[in-house]
Amino acid sequence: MKYLIVNSVLQLLIIFLTLFPQGIFSQEPNGKYTIVIDGGAGSLDPNLDEAGKQAYLNSLTTALNIGKKILEEGGSSLDAVEQVVKYLEDDSLFNAGRGAVFTSAGTIELDASIMDGRDLSTGAVAGVTVIKNPISLARLVMEKTQHVLFAGTGADELGKKLEVEIVDPSYFFVHKRYEELKKMIEKIKGTSGCVAIDQFGNITAGTSTGGRTGKIPGRVGDSPLINAGTYANNKTCGVSGTGIGELFIKNTVAFNISALMEYKGYSLEEAANEMIYNRLPDNSGGIIAVDKNYNYILEFNTESMLRGVATSDGIFEVKIWK
Ligand code: ASP
Repeated sequence: MKYLIVNSVLQLLIIFLTLFPQGIFSQEPNGKYTIVIDGGAGSLDPNLDEAGKQAYLNSLTTALNIGKKILEEGGSSLDAVEQVVKYLEDDSLFNAGRGAVFTSAGTIELDASIMDGRDLSTGAVAGVTVIKNPISLARLVMEKTQHVLFAGTGADELGKKLEVEIVDPSYFFVHKRYEELKKMIEKIKGTSGCVAIDQFGNITAGTSTGGRTGKIPGRVGDSPLINAGTYANNKTCGVSGTGIGELFIKNTVAFNISALMEYKGYSLEEAANEMIYNRLPDNSGGIIAVDKNYNYILEFNTESMLRGVATSDGIFEVKIWK
């Protein structure tokens, strides 16, 4: 009899562990989180007037607070990253979504990607022209399709099919009204990115951009390319890059930071410094990253990088220059 009871208990345990391989305890929130954001690396004029500076710092603060709230309440890093990047896309101060830079043909082509560090799921779109929030379409590519990257008209069509918000391309054009801001944006040449680790230890990285000012139509940068501009792996870290995309692609920047940690035992800081200062040429850009132990880094080899960090330890900072 005793044997039968023990046997049934064991069988129930096996069934439970098969159905819930992560067990019950791993889903308990641990009260910790770290979130980092960037609004582009470049050469923002240090003499930028107080109003211009405040406009950027206020936007970064609002974006950071959106993600912080989600994480604080036990939400997922996936939701936090999507919502933060969406905010930066909607804010015309940044080179992503509305307010993106122009191609040499005077059009706007947007790139974005997102990666879930739990299982390396990824979704990305390149060269979309009517998708209001490319980051949200990237997430749907990850969650609703068997593919990882859609480009051009196929990506725009997919967005319509998946019923994301569609806008007329003119929605993104703000440069006539914001001539001054555009001048600044061109100096920043910035992408928008967000990386977060939530209370369950899950890391997500997301990146969204209009690309480089005057890019040839059809050009795709690093932002929608997993491993180059975006990477996330719960075993190591999550990374989002900003800067000259071609250099990030050639140097496989985001993945290499994770690989140095996984294969060589580097800390997040050592791995990021190796890529930013020893591999990338000077003045090529920067990265924001968090690791599985809730550490973070915001590193760049340009004059400025619009950036911010919030942690469960009470750190909350937004900055522009070194
Ligand atoms: N990395 C982006 C690209 O090359 C642009 C940027 O971050 O400034 O498309």
